[in-house]
Amino acid sequence: MISGLPLPDLRTIVSEIAEEMRDRKDRGEVATYIPELARVGLENFGIAVVDGDGTIAEAGDSDKPFSIQSISKVFTLTLALGKAGDLLWTRVGREPSGNPFNSIVQLELEKGVPRNPFINAGALAVTDALLSCHPPRAALGEILSFIRAAAGDESIFIDENVAESEKRTGFRNVALANFMKSFGKLENPADLVLGTYFHHCSIAMSCRQIAMAGRYLAHSGRNPETGFNIVSARRARRINALMLTCGHYDGSGEFAYRVGLPGKSGVGGGIFAVAPGRASIAVWSPGLDAAGNSRLGRMALEKLAQRMKWSIFG
Ligand code: GLN
Repeated sequence: MISGLPLPDLRTIVSEIAEEMRDRKDRGEVATYIPELARVGLENFGIAVVDGDGTIAEAGDSDKPFSIQSISKVFTLTLALGKAGDLLWTRVGREPSGNPFNSIVQLELEKGVPRNPFINAGALAVTDALLSCHPPRAALGEILSFIRAAAGDESIFIDENVAESEKRTGFRNVALANFMKSFGKLENPADLVLGTYFHHCSIAMSCRQIAMAGRYLAHSGRNPETGFNIVSARRARRINALMLTCGHYDGSGEFAYRVGLPGKSGVGGGIFAVAPGRASIAVWSPGLDAAGNSRLGRMALEKLAQRMKWSIFG
């Protein structure tokens, strides 16, 4: 049983949603500013939902790895909070930006302290905090090991083609990092921070692997399979709060309004979402809306949250 509903109901709902999404024509546009992402077919759609008992309901391309991009920022934030604790909040804020994910405007006004850890500038600050503890290769190794352990899956990998592609065209991110450096807000060389950031954004995972890796945020910081705490219940609650308010950039309000779950999107078309106490969810459809969030991904989550009555707002 999940939330008083027999399991087949969740499985049926997930399959129905995948079916409905398969036929939709309004699929948005794939990201083209990272050339490697532009090669991904718009027809892909995957969804995976994992409950606290480890039961998985999945459909479509739920097993096909794709570029997690900004979903990685949830995992790097978790790791950086583990290392720096609340001191991390001296380097990055906790307010929604109301701006696109790669905006530079606010950063100048706010003297190099990014609004939140989920916009690019904020994620660069978080990556910088991780690099202050380890050299780049070790920091990346730690990020990958953390995700693999959380997912219980050693096959998760970094797609070097995507990392290379992003490095070649990541002019905005280069600008953001240098801007922060000029304000004295990066401890490490900007090129090392950028290289590490591009690589963690280039981790490839399937919906199933993301849903598995994110279980700790659905279950008060605990991996329900092993029973071990990955973070405290309080920290999990707070990361979820940040996902709700900042996880979809300037589309965060719309996502909260329509879906009502904490969620984090990536320009690869993935969205990771959490139904607290119930399930960890990942959807993937590479076509994006104007704010850079998966168009069908959000629609699918809206349907799932409605049909399962999972909105955190009742
Ligand atoms: N790697 C991407 C970038 O830096 C991440 C952006 C995203 O997923 N929204 O532009």
